Amino acid sequence: MGEITSGERRLTTEELQDRAARAASGFKELGIGQGDTVAVYLRNDLAFFEASFAAGLLGAYPVPVNWHYTEAEARYLLENCEAKAVVIHADLLEPIRAAIPAGVAVFVVETPPEIAAAYAIAPERCRVPPGATDWSTWLGALTPLPPTPIEPPSTMIYTSGTTGHPKGVRRAPPTPEQAQGFIVVLAKGFGFADDLADPSRIVTVVTGPMYHSAPNAYGTIAARLGGNVILQPRYDSEDLLKLIETRKVTHLHMVPIMFNRLVKLPDDVKARYDLSSLKFVIHAAAPVSPPIKRQMIEWWGPIINEYYGATETGIVTLCNSQEWLAHPGTVGKALDFSTVKILSADGQELPQGEIGEVAAKTHIISDFTYHGDDSKRQASDRGGLFAPGDVGYLDADGFLYLCDRAKDMVISGGVNIYPAEIEAELHKMPGVADCAVFGVPDDEYGEALLAVVQPQPGADLTEAAVRGYLREHVAGYKVPKKVEFLADLPREDSGKIFKRKLREPYWEGLD
Ligand code: ATP
Repeated sequence: MGEITSGERRLTTEELQDRAARAASGFKELGIGQGDTVAVYLRNDLAFFEASFAAGLLGAYPVPVNWHYTEAEARYLLENCEAKAVVIHADLLEPIRAAIPAGVAVFVVETPPEIAAAYAIAPERCRVPPGATDWSTWLGALTPLPPTPIEPPSTMIYTSGTTGHPKGVRRAPPTPEQAQGFIVVLAKGFGFADDLADPSRIVTVVTGPMYHSAPNAYGTIAARLGGNVILQPRYDSEDLLKLIETRKVTHLHMVPIMFNRLVKLPDDVKARYDLSSLKFVIHAAAPVSPPIKRQMIEWWGPIINEYYGATETGIVTLCNSQEWLAHPGTVGKALDFSTVKILSADGQELPQGEIGEVAAKTHIISDFTYHGDDSKRQASDRGGLFAPGDVGYLDADGFLYLCDRAKDMVISGGVNIYPAEIEAELHKMPGVADCAVFGVPDDEYGEALLAVVQPQPGADLTEAAVRGYLREHVAGYKVPKKVEFLADLPREDSGKIFKRKLREPYWEGLD
């Protein structure tokens, strides 16, 4: 029997079952039922599982909320998802209290000490405010619903909002057979398949915030299977290495930005920890830098796997270390029950090697809608395949390569340019900490490239030096016309860069 741990606190599968059944009976008394939504406004915490599974027991949708949101963003999401109840950490409540629509039941979870320590939250902000309903006290007083085996809830997750407003991806509740198939595919994708006979051997750390679809699916599936789930309140590279050694971690789900931080650790820190318990590490969500991935494979061994997917599709492709080394830069091959095609602008399937729009079909995509506005779903439908908005190509062995996000592709003087390629080169330039390349309006070419560079502290970079470096590494037409410098580029926890926020000011009134 597995358990979920956070700091010193533990929740066994039985306790989770009991607490979720209690909360479900309380939600039911409030009139929450099939198809309703419950906002889970929590950092990675035991209560995240309790609230999500409770909603799932009633056929309601837990809706994890990105707790970085401003009040306006929170208002958009809470109104858009039509939450009937909000379960929120005490310290997160005050800044967004006014964004909670009238009539919505609010349950407040005391912010636990390990989270308070990780985010330096003052103790008084961690307490449940007077007059508010304390989640744990409320649960304790309820009679649980009759015991039901816990199933991963049909979560409604919002996309990252990289290209526009986050979209609430709502799936029809799966039939028992679909739910089983879903688990089988995810268990394979996440590397749990070999441990299904004895899931207590699975020891995993949820490193990313569970409001993202991948860490969410990862954590809930591991818990549902009976594995051991360790919650890291906030990602920290050395702390992760320590956890791997002391807790004998076997499985991890990561995003590339974590690799960037891991490889930068001093050599003596890297050598300090015994990582031999690790069996299966998987990453996705944003492009990985090939030299960094190579270093990770050299350090951790050929246990680094990658997948490509989106909130709407789940896992589309998968590749292990050997496949990636043989096909450097790939994001993998279609997983069982998935199809990947590359389409032309008029929707025709393109032959191998040609660049076009990536379209996919997976085991879970058939039944989703975008809550509140499904017009975008129709816009992304390619005859039964879904286009997540990426441009790429397939090689002769069926491996998929991504060039860029379709919205990020720049057409300058009629030529297609993929900023991701230029960014990959810029990342190699000494003194560059981070960068983003995108198109801005240009009288002559329609669009011209602009590079925004975040220099490493103390680096003395100039526009001429950056352009000069690129001139040596990419074709002349790919060298940005202009280079600007910014101390801190806006990035998501997953490492996705918020180009929309950088680009918007240049296109105001023109887009
Ligand atoms: P929005 O749709 O709101 O703009 P988003 O597209 O970022 O947000 P997500 O579902 O969070 O929404 O992310 C899916 C995207 O993540 C994919 O379309 C792809 O661009 C990127 N991605 C996923 N896996 C990989 C990978 N292995 N390598 C590179 N990029 C990836």
